[in-house]
Amino acid sequence: MRACKRCLLREAAEDVTYASVMEKVEKIPAHDRAPEELYRTRLEACSSCDHLLSGVCMKCGCYVEFRAASKRMKCPDAAAKRW
Ligand code: SF4
Repeated sequence: MRACKRCLLREAAEDVTYASVMEKVEKIPAHDRAPEELYRTRLEACSSCDHLLSGVCMKCGCYVEFRAASKRMKCPDAAAKRW
């Protein structure tokens, strides 16, 4: 995997991993899914965060495209909650 600071997975040329993460996103029940606008806002925040590396949040180890898709999840950075 190419290490890509501040790249979302979809931008890091990791098609197989991205597809697999998005498959998991699709399985999140509708009532737990973040609305599209909220999802996009969260990913924008991650895209400008120093803790993002190749689609992975270095604070929690999650693929942000998965974490941000769940309504109940929060940014794990206790010092500067970005969402
Ligand atoms: S610390 Fe928060 S904003 Fe930064 S990459 Fe992780 S989830 Fe995204």
